[in-house]
Amino acid sequence: MSRLVVVSNRTADLRKPAAGGLAVALGESLQQRGGVWFGWSGKILEDVDGQPAPEGKVNFQRAGKVTLATVDLGRADYDAYYAGYSNDVLWPVFHYRLDLANFDTRFAAGYRRVNQLFARKLLPMLKPDDLIWVHDYHLIPLAAELRALGCTNRIGFFLHVPMPPPLIMAAIPEHEWLMRSLFAFDVVGFQSRADLLHFSHYVESEAGAEVLGDGRFRAYGRTTHAGAFPIGMDVDDFLRLAEAKEGREMFERMRDEYSRRQLLLGVDRLDYSKGLPQRIHAFRELLAQYPENRNRATLIQIASPSREDVEAYGDIRRQMDSLCGAINGDYGELDWMPIRYIHRNIARKRLPGLYRASRVALVTPLRDGMNLVAKEFIAAQDPADPGMLVLSRFAGAAEQLKDALLVNPYDTQGTAQAIQRALTMPLEERRNRHANLLRSIREQNIHWWTRSFLDALAGAQK
Ligand code: UDP
Repeated sequence: MSRLVVVSNRTADLRKPAAGGLAVALGESLQQRGGVWFGWSGKILEDVDGQPAPEGKVNFQRAGKVTLATVDLGRADYDAYYAGYSNDVLWPVFHYRLDLANFDTRFAAGYRRVNQLFARKLLPMLKPDDLIWVHDYHLIPLAAELRALGCTNRIGFFLHVPMPPPLIMAAIPEHEWLMRSLFAFDVVGFQSRADLLHFSHYVESEAGAEVLGDGRFRAYGRTTHAGAFPIGMDVDDFLRLAEAKEGREMFERMRDEYSRRQLLLGVDRLDYSKGLPQRIHAFRELLAQYPENRNRATLIQIASPSREDVEAYGDIRRQMDSLCGAINGDYGELDWMPIRYIHRNIARKRLPGLYRASRVALVTPLRDGMNLVAKEFIAAQDPADPGMLVLSRFAGAAEQLKDALLVNPYDTQGTAQAIQRALTMPLEERRNRHANLLRSIREQNIHWWTRSFLDALAGAQK
């Protein structure tokens, strides 16, 4: 079996047990095959006396059969590649937020420079039959830069975020270069069929691509395979976490605390793609339209801090503070507050207990590549008395999770109705829906995802 080389913006520390599902799954594949995980160290080399610091060396660490290789970034590179192009151009546009994008040719230049740096540093580590798997929007040009240096390995790419429709993509001044760059990969993977369709519409309409069948596309003088590989979770691992001491303690604490209430739960990074203000409006509408929920339904909203140096994130934070304050002020009682808004990260091991104690989960992003919280909530439920998932149709997960209550998060009244339906759903219907949802997340779990992507990459015609 060929070695695996994983490349992502950041690497995970494989020696730490608390790593999330993706890191564990990639770590497993790497351990089985042996290989390298390459990425940015997270360190920034500050300028010295106004001059850029000299380029850093690659730092190697060994963990079993895997080498973790990381490189530091200079201040200007970090600002342009990461804070600029990745966070301020690609993230908003890929989540359909043209209004929040900040186009600047210096960002694009820095993004290209860092992809060239990654290619240069990675090349000497490669063996001829290594499979290379590149992750996410930070590294779209990486295969093209590796090819320019003579690399002939099979290289695959997985986009964790949504692929926007062609006319949204076309708002990025460098869109043609980005799409052309994708064709330097042998396999390009998306989260959903909708994303794959957007890709195919783009290459057909903007680049006159030929669709060759079997998921192969020919454009820009190259052929690539494109497919949908919805990312999954490790259901059994998550259940073990639920059964562990912290998981059980959390569940019991929440169940006792809220025994007279109906608990609703939201768990998100505080990001403008997650539809948090819209969710608070829908919850307010629920209290207004269905007064039986007053003094009874409590929404716990975890919003873990994220990219706090970006301006748009400060805006969403202020908006949430004010919306949550207003609803608590208007509807709160001496012994009941409608919302508990927590702007902190909750340790992963405490989440299963929280999910299990909740009657309804609100996963209502305006746009999301997949959304793993939706799947984790399903995994953590008691099948005999499961809670219900209210899920945005604009999350990638909605393509698989048809038995959730699908909502349009922009439609405040429709979302409030769906929440009410979830709160009042008879036990038998909840059980049936949950059984179907659980089957779906078990079938297409994280192991299925790594296997199917790597099989596609190993089998791709050159
Ligand atoms: N998460 C966590 N603590 C928090 C909030 C989130 O551990 O306070 C985890 C959550 O369990 C999930 C991940 O972060 O595994 C979020 O993944 P998702 O796909 O839902 O959204 P993303 O943040 O990647 O956009």
